[in-house]
Amino acid sequence: MLEKDRISYFYDVNLGEDCPVFDNLFEFCQIYAGGTLDAARRLNHKSCDIAINWAGGLHHAKKCEASGFCYINDLVLGILELLKYHARVLYIDIDVHHGDGVEEAFYFTDRVMTVSFHKYGDLFFPGTGAIKDIGEREGKYYAINIPLKDGIDDASFTRLFKTIIAKVVETYLPGAIVLQCGADSLARDRLGCFNLSIEGHAECVKFVKKFNIPLLVTGGGGYTKENVARCWAVETGVLLDTELPNEIPNNDYIEYFAPDYTLKVANLNMDNLNSKTYLSSIKVQVMESLRSIQHAPGVQMQEVPPDFYIPDFDEDELDPDERVDQHTQDKQIHRDDEYYEGDNDNDHDDGTR
Ligand SMILES: [Zn+2]
Repeated sequence: MLEKDRISYFYDVNLGEDCPVFDNLFEFCQIYAGGTLDAARRLNHKSCDIAINWAGGLHHAKKCEASGFCYINDLVLGILELLKYHARVLYIDIDVHHGDGVEEAFYFTDRVMTVSFHKYGDLFFPGTGAIKDIGEREGKYYAINIPLKDGIDDASFTRLFKTIIAKVVETYLPGAIVLQCGADSLARDRLGCFNLSIEGHAECVKFVKKFNIPLLVTGGGGYTKENVARCWAVETGVLLDTELPNEIPNNDYIEYFAPDYTLKVANLNMDNLNSKTYLSSIKVQVMESLRSIQHAPGVQMQEVPPDFYIPDFDEDELDPDERVDQHTQDKQIHRDDEYYEGDNDNDHDDGTR
């Protein structure tokens, strides 16, 4: 293909400059999106109460457009799967960028509330997520945006996060929560501009876990990769109620963690441009918006679509250290949902769950 034809082809398929095509792109999308879908399925079937997919959380992808390193929006697919069993799903996003793809997908519905904490202004990507954007039609008041400025620190961020999320959960009464833990909100991120420590970031995860509501946790952005690994390791510990030792044990990647070889990293000495007055005005506006939806909305009973697939084996019983090649794995998965005649056949029940 000529270079000019190649460029025009990529524009036709809506792959812009920050979404390059690379070898095995489709398989990459299958792996991370499949992980989030499987996490949702396990929560729906109560085979776990918390499911983690650090490979997922690609919140910028739109239905017809790849955007911001995101090709397929696994979060939207995961939430749609959760909606087959839960009347209301709460989506929380602590990536430094606005969770625009997820917000857009559910902007007109009250069955998903999206809450995004992000840097806003100075033409920061993706440019959306103003406080006045609150959803439309049935979705009015069900999108919440918390636009922040550079340098927000642990104390201001966690205080605002806890106040808002506590009120959201109390008001909305979600059946499941999806938490996007983008690590580009950490201090020293190559693209970010916040000043959160790993402890501050993890404090938000700990707070959400305490509600004991089925929880799907994903990764997201993060561009200082050794800190991304540190952050999600600590948060895996938080979700498993396990405190990890600060010293990183020897492993193949240990040199990435030089010179300290520790899990925790110090904050930066950086100005917090979010004044107390600014943060308090944001809090007041969000609380005002939440007052408009005092009662959690109901959902009409309707036919529940089938699960995205029904595996005939339990992956938990497999040896996690043994690699099964893709072809064998594919053969183990039934793809006959539409004709399924087992206990989960929706053709015969009244669709109430
Ligand atoms: Zn991001």
